[in-house]
Amino acid sequence: PRVDNPYVGVTGYVNPDWKAKADAEPGGSRISNNPTGVWMDRIAAINGTTGARGLRAHLDTAVAQGAGYIQVVIYNLPGRDCSALASAGELEPTEIDRYKTEYIDPIAAIMGDAKYRNLRIINVIEIDSLPNLVTNTGSRPTAVPACDVMKANGNYVNGVGYALAKLGALPNTYNYIDAGHHGWIGWDDNLAPSATLFAEAARASGSTLNNVHGFIVNTANYGALTEPYFNINSTVGGTSVRQSRWVDWNRYVDEQSFAQGFRTQLISAGFNSNVGMLIDTSRNGWGGSARPTGPGAQTNVDTFVDGGRLDRRIHTGNWCNQSGAGIGERPRAAPAAGIDAYVWIKPPGESDGASTEIENDEGKGFDRMCDPTYTGNPRNNNNMSGALANAPLSGHWFSAQFQQLMQNAYPPL
Ligand code: BGC
Repeated sequence: PRVDNPYVGVTGYVNPDWKAKADAEPGGSRISNNPTGVWMDRIAAINGTTGARGLRAHLDTAVAQGAGYIQVVIYNLPGRDCSALASAGELEPTEIDRYKTEYIDPIAAIMGDAKYRNLRIINVIEIDSLPNLVTNTGSRPTAVPACDVMKANGNYVNGVGYALAKLGALPNTYNYIDAGHHGWIGWDDNLAPSATLFAEAARASGSTLNNVHGFIVNTANYGALTEPYFNINSTVGGTSVRQSRWVDWNRYVDEQSFAQGFRTQLISAGFNSNVGMLIDTSRNGWGGSARPTGPGAQTNVDTFVDGGRLDRRIHTGNWCNQSGAGIGERPRAAPAAGIDAYVWIKPPGESDGASTEIENDEGKGFDRMCDPTYTGNPRNNNNMSGALANAPLSGHWFSAQFQQLMQNAYPPL
């Protein structure tokens, strides 16, 4: 029988492959004992790739560690990452059958082995997929042809439904669907349609809403957990901060208020009233010497928000290897109402994407959002990318970023 919050009362699996990389860095042992997500980012990852053990070995090691839970990222949809290139995947938009038979089925078979039945297996389901169908399709200025394709062919919705159904059939799994982040679906025209689409996916391919234990926000993103110096109701001289350039009419200013507010919306869309939220805090600390220590000047809403915000990105649409970011809250269970845990799903030190074109056999492309000289596109309102230079391929070790993340950790290390 499932527990309400799988994070409570048990310790998490520490991935020795990530730990070894962190430990090899000066100062890395300060954080290397934290549980991080195990990414099944291609079919080959199931059996293991160079430097990364396979799923069965992870589960065996988790049992050997006496861990109570392990976090596995299901990330290989057909036409993956339709709005970006850095994590384009190995499966073509039409390859839903391969997704089912060569990817989800073998994962479900391994997770279903009776020797893992006392482990709580937390599945993070398909980052950066469904929200793309809401925000980056159709007549919107942010539309991307590849996302129109994935909306039209139904393979994101059917793939997510299949993953939920197969993995949700096991007694000890906990499925959390990726719900983007506040700087993506926090606007009025995105919130309700996203919740509706998640419910549609949770009912696709024979799944039911009961296969969804919760949702995760901010995965591999950089949104601040809370903004202490302003909130969505703040005003300056009678003008709402929603009118500032930074907030730009969003309904939320940080990830925790978004997670809690969106949770209510998800329940209205039909999800169980006890769904729990996760927040990826691996890289949203925004500490270091540039961290504001008080509110911004009350000259106008822009000086007020820009002077006081912890999230120091150029634009909330920036997502690749953000310069100035720091490690956030350490993983912990039940930190706030409606939140099952703060988690580290994106392993700190693993790149979001290469800053120049790099040849590879992982299907990964070059996304200019990872190029520090790029001046942007409609999805970041044509701002500079804010990315660090000299980044390797997504998922590969990025030592300079790891060092900056530790330096700017908040709480400090
Ligand atoms: C990459 C994956 C990697 C993951 C975790 C993603 O951006 O595409 O290959 O496993 O990040 O670092």
